[in-house]
Amino acid sequence: MNPKPQSATAELQSQQESWRVLAGKGSGRPCNRCQEPIGPNEIEYEIELTARGARAAPPVTLIFHIRCYDAWRKTLSPESG
Ligand SMILES: [Zn+2]
Repeated sequence: MNPKPQSATAELQSQQESWRVLAGKGSGRPCNRCQEPIGPNEIEYEIELTARGARAAPPVTLIFHIRCYDAWRKTLSPESG
């Protein structure tokens, strides 16, 4: 009865880029989509993007509101939804 926490990650890794998502309290930093700061009473999504096969490239960090993260993901996979 062991759940497989890697299954979601494996799905992401089938994309051209892999990313890691961290959710937390807003830190006041601006959202990468709407440019508005994410306040402490909001949830901040931090996405660490890593291009596959590009060892020298440093990961890119993006910060989104929940709604912006959702919209951003839809731009990545327009066929879902
Ligand atoms: Zn936003």
